[in-house]
Amino acid sequence: MIRRLFARLMPGRPSRDPRIYRRDAHPVRREQVPRGARSVTDKLQEAGFLAFVVGGAVRDLLLGQTPKDFDIATNATPEEVKPLFRRAYIIGRRFRLVHVHVGAEVLEVSTFRAPQKAVESTDENGRLLSDNVYGTQAEDAARRDFTINALYFDPTSEEIWDYVGGVTDVRARRLKLIGPPVTRFREDPVRMLRAVRLATKVGMTIDARTAAPIPKLASLIQNVPPARLFDEMQKLLLSGHARETLQSLRAHGLSHGLLPLLDMILEQPLGPKFIEVALAGTDARVRSSKPVSPAFLFATLLWHEVLQQWNVAKARGDKPLPALFDAMDRVLDAQAERISIPRRFEANIKEIWSLQPRFEQRAGARPYRLLEHERFRAAYDFLALRGESGEVPQALVEWWTRFQDAGDGEREAMLRPDEAPKKGGRRSRGRGRKRRDDTGDAGGPESGSAVS
Ligand code: ATP
Ligand code: MG
Repeated sequence: MIRRLFARLMPGRPSRDPRIYRRDAHPVRREQVPRGARSVTDKLQEAGFLAFVVGGAVRDLLLGQTPKDFDIATNATPEEVKPLFRRAYIIGRRFRLVHVHVGAEVLEVSTFRAPQKAVESTDENGRLLSDNVYGTQAEDAARRDFTINALYFDPTSEEIWDYVGGVTDVRARRLKLIGPPVTRFREDPVRMLRAVRLATKVGMTIDARTAAPIPKLASLIQNVPPARLFDEMQKLLLSGHARETLQSLRAHGLSHGLLPLLDMILEQPLGPKFIEVALAGTDARVRSSKPVSPAFLFATLLWHEVLQQWNVAKARGDKPLPALFDAMDRVLDAQAERISIPRRFEANIKEIWSLQPRFEQRAGARPYRLLEHERFRAAYDFLALRGESGEVPQALVEWWTRFQDAGDGEREAMLRPDEAPKKGGRRSRGRGRKRRDDTGDAGGPESGSAVS
């Protein structure tokens, strides 16, 4: 009683005993937990251990949303968990967990973990460098990020165990860090991004005490390893709420220095529109469960930086294609210092970008060759975004839309006569030099021949 009173007086401070919500005090039912996860908690409990569904799944169920995955927390060590299941694998070097395979499902089973306190385990900014000591369930709750993410649901008793006031916060739609916000953000600056992403995703307000230090601590994001930032950015961008989340990131002073240049992009006249259009499209796809390509998305986010550098180089008199490749490399290199985009995505991003100049060529055999290109679809979708944001004429996009579906005769009729430099069209403006076919097909059948 006194402890509970104390907990109430010291918000954000985890208590040693949980507040237990019995089945009639909340709406979550065992049937909402998939069979695989239930069979794992059953087995662990039959063997005498504690076993709960934990984290995002409990939060989502309480909110009436469908969880992505069901993680399980237990007081059994990985060595105790593994022999209970036929297909169970201990994974992870720093912190060991067990992956239990049940049919097609893979359940992540983690042992209660204690928060790290030792000074040696943090860097000079207070960032946690390791997090791998087993602990009690109360300690496990305390080392989690937000109160709403630290709830434990027992599918057998249908009880929710709450050490940190998470149920109250779910009901109040309040996203609150567990413990002192400055320390918790310093331990792991990614929590700032998670706060904004989760608040947007589940439609909650970030608690004032949690939100207050964010602008001041935002620069700590720079110490987070780039690969981890990429994972987080990817979650954020593919959440189905990317547009809103990015707006919120900006409002909390967090967009700066993340995708380099995100700020710069947002300040450019075409930037906001282009990114808005791109993100709205992605969000719509995610929400209707259509596949989305992270490479495409990163290509859109970085495009204006490429475009700007490319235009500067062209204005200097550099040849268009080498200048484009150069700009692409420079932008991706600068990016890699902040958020490292995996190599396999980088190749796709470059392809999408490097195909863009080829859409300008609508004479002779070139449009046919472009149509057959493996990445045509992505490149065309990208062109459509450029059209929608006003960067290229809509007529160009419409031409390609028609050309794809047209029959042979119509395609033939659509082809442009080759545009010779001296004929006064838009191509002959400026330096008047012959346009290089920047895709290595210079000297193709139509080059330099016909008249417009
Ligand atoms: P999502 O719906 O995006 O999966 P989630 O809350 O389940 O949200 P996960 O990254 O899957 O997020 O993490 C699972 C759980 O692990 C969280 O609910 C939280 O309890 C804990 N957790 C995750 N990241 C952190 C962190 N940076 N610091 C502390 N606890 C964390
Ligand atoms: Mg999750």
